[in-house]
Amino acid sequence: MLVATTAFTIPPRPIDRSASDTNDLVPVTATVDLAALRHNVRALQARAQGADLMAIVKADGYGHGALPVTRVLHDEGVRYFAVARPAEGVRLRKNGVADRILILGAPFPNDLSVYAKHDLDLTISSADTAAAACEHGPWVQPLRVHVKVDTGMGRIGLPLDEAPVVIRRLSGAPGIHLAGVWTHFATADEPESDFAQTQLDRFEAVLDELGADPSVSPDHIHAANTGALLTLGSRAHRHSAPLVRTGIALYGLTASRPLGDRIDLTPVMRLRARVTHLKTVPPDTPISYGATWRAPRPARIATLGVGYGDGYPRLCSGRASVRIGGTERPIVGTVCMDMCMVDLGPPDAPAAQRVEVGDEATLFGAAPPTLYDVADWAETIPYEICCSLSPRVPRRYVDASTDTTATGRVSPPSSRPQPRI
Ligand SMILES: *Cc1c(COP(=O)(O)O)cnc(C)c1O
Repeated sequence: MLVATTAFTIPPRPIDRSASDTNDLVPVTATVDLAALRHNVRALQARAQGADLMAIVKADGYGHGALPVTRVLHDEGVRYFAVARPAEGVRLRKNGVADRILILGAPFPNDLSVYAKHDLDLTISSADTAAAACEHGPWVQPLRVHVKVDTGMGRIGLPLDEAPVVIRRLSGAPGIHLAGVWTHFATADEPESDFAQTQLDRFEAVLDELGADPSVSPDHIHAANTGALLTLGSRAHRHSAPLVRTGIALYGLTASRPLGDRIDLTPVMRLRARVTHLKTVPPDTPISYGATWRAPRPARIATLGVGYGDGYPRLCSGRASVRIGGTERPIVGTVCMDMCMVDLGPPDAPAAQRVEVGDEATLFGAAPPTLYDVADWAETIPYEICCSLSPRVPRRYVDASTDTTATGRVSPPSSRPQPRI
């Protein structure tokens, strides 16, 4: 009723298409809780025991918004950031981020001037990239390089037998500053992984070989990601000048639930969608594409304004539930691009009686269903769920947990928490 009334009372004037106004017209919102982000980075700083943190904000901060996330983390003392690709780093620079930014992906030799121009740290991923970095100077300022050693991830990086030679060569090269030597684990998310330990041993063998050479002194040595921090612990960052690269845990998540039990994190993102349509249907009424679900009894059906076009997985069809009307109710039928349907139960069920058009349902949040649940239904990892939220979902930034929507009713805009950023 609220929405209909609001729409009716808007006076006839030219439509204002500014972003915030149109966002209010979108039936789905991802709320990003910056207080939770602060809580998580503090927990990670404590866990890293003095190692510097490198916050990973690739893929638009795992879908949370790289810029607001970076600003909050800078406030919390983080001075090292990383993204996957140069374009992501340039975007941060253009928006005033002055901290160190490492590009984790392998560079194309022709793109090295972009790194120099925007003061981005470069990953040396092969002997050829090392040669290109040496040849392409001199830059106005030294090119800052982090040499990636492939100890078993098998993605990018120098093979073990080439790494020491290349690192020595870069150490002495004019116009090059050795900012880091690093590796990446393939299985650190698995507690007691022998292979993670093997990778660590290989990495340390390379470091030992270099240790004898006083001309080689990288600013940082880094191996740990979130998984390694939580499973290998200080073994993964006991090197001189350690750095811990952490991504998913900043956002209050880990690769799996058991890993999440090892540290006190708060989920940062909550996804909510409004009811756009309600109806009561007789038994045997088919719902959605393919008519794969039929009402087993008279059913109150709510249509939510969210679908796979927003990044809510189609694999959730017939598997997922949402929090609506104070309880959890199932998504029935196929998830569409822009909508999905929820069975509120028989018409006299409490949820069926309570829910109105314009009310909000939570697709994932602090209370179940959580993002872990959605990842399970979609047969994937939490990373993919938050990264896949599409740009058409407005992100609303709040600075305290506001998960108090007992009824799920949308509050009028004036009483909504104001975005800080
Ligand atoms: C994405 C990424 C990370 C962060 O991993 P999390 O599991 O999110 O902590 C660290 N290092 C590299 C090389 C990455 O690509």
